[in-house]
Amino acid sequence: MYTIGYLLLFSAGAASLATAMPSQTRFNGQQVVSLSATGSDKVSTGVWNQVAGLDLDVWKNAADHLHIRVDAVERKALGLLPGMQVKTIVDDIQRLVDAKAYAPNTPSSQKSDWFSEYRQLEDIYNWLYQMARDHADIVSEPISIGETIEGRQILQLRVTAPGDASKRKRIWMQSLIHAREWISGSTLQYVFNSLVSGYNKGEQRIKNLLEKVVFNREYSVNGTVYGVDLNRNWPDHWALKSSSKNPKYAIFHGPAAASSREVQALMAAYIKEPNVVGAIDLHAYSQLILYPYGWTNATSPDDAAYKRMGQQIADNIYKQSGKTYTSQRISDMYLASGCVSDWWYGPAVEAEIKAGIPGPRPYAFGIELRPAETEKQGFIVGPEEIRPTGEEIYSALVHFSEEAEANSLPSGLISPDS
Ligand SMILES: [Zn+2]
Repeated sequence: MYTIGYLLLFSAGAASLATAMPSQTRFNGQQVVSLSATGSDKVSTGVWNQVAGLDLDVWKNAADHLHIRVDAVERKALGLLPGMQVKTIVDDIQRLVDAKAYAPNTPSSQKSDWFSEYRQLEDIYNWLYQMARDHADIVSEPISIGETIEGRQILQLRVTAPGDASKRKRIWMQSLIHAREWISGSTLQYVFNSLVSGYNKGEQRIKNLLEKVVFNREYSVNGTVYGVDLNRNWPDHWALKSSSKNPKYAIFHGPAAASSREVQALMAAYIKEPNVVGAIDLHAYSQLILYPYGWTNATSPDDAAYKRMGQQIADNIYKQSGKTYTSQRISDMYLASGCVSDWWYGPAVEAEIKAGIPGPRPYAFGIELRPAETEKQGFIVGPEEIRPTGEEIYSALVHFSEEAEANSLPSGLISPDS
């Protein structure tokens, strides 16, 4: 009754993520531009088709604009699209990367502060196993729940206080289902580390929480930039809205619902967990707190509770760091089907009921981390922001977990079309 645990999931693909780090890839002469329609508030399917035809690297898609990485020739090609305007977001990617001083190759031993830089996958996994050994009373041995398309293990860890955890409520956290969103991986590590150190320092709030909750966390990485968009591949209203059957699109939904092995592994692990009261999927960028639905403009039966919780997350972040995150329905941004939050909130509940696994409907959120769009950095977040981003999200997630534990949503299935 008075229990939570964090199930923390760590998965792989991060090696290829690391090799895709900007320090090893040069972006000389490249820019990030914003493409929007003149005289319209929508990026039409026609434009999407043309952009896909150009085989470009789309960094962000919003209802009314796209962020795209281009070289000079590609920028010119975009400028020729009828009715579209091109604006510069990042004038020189390489200069920004250099200024942000990514240094993923520094051997870990040279740096005492784990959060002073982005880490390689192998180092991260060693760190996780070491944390589990050092804090075996509250951190479970990492277990592999499956493999990524690149054959890397998806690791899951649990953090909870000693004692019988079977009745404790659960918080599920995952990161890095998209490549390049490095800050989401480091943030999950930061949250994990803070829970462990808070408990060990005897912080009463964290002790109370870990006696109530099991935190499941997972490090799930999609190392490939091109390929199935793992946040369009979940079996909920799959392939309906704002997802694409074109493999060249950043929002390619895959050949079938749950076709990707990462999604299959995450689904199987999630459904086994009873009493998940909250689930968080970390992404970048834009500083948004997003909740169901994505597939429809309709509001869910728990919309008021979601709205309240989302605002509390935003308020906590603001109090911690002064950063403004906006809480909204996914569909307020754009319709998107097959995303994980909708699956957690709907089909996962249905699957658990069928399997006789008890639990309420979860508070299912996606959080887009730093930077804000107005900062014009795209995915490029320097290592000096790892710690502040971790702090603001940790602060918000402690509050979120307490709230979700104390005031869980009701149980029971909602009509899939409501
Ligand atoms: Zn993402």
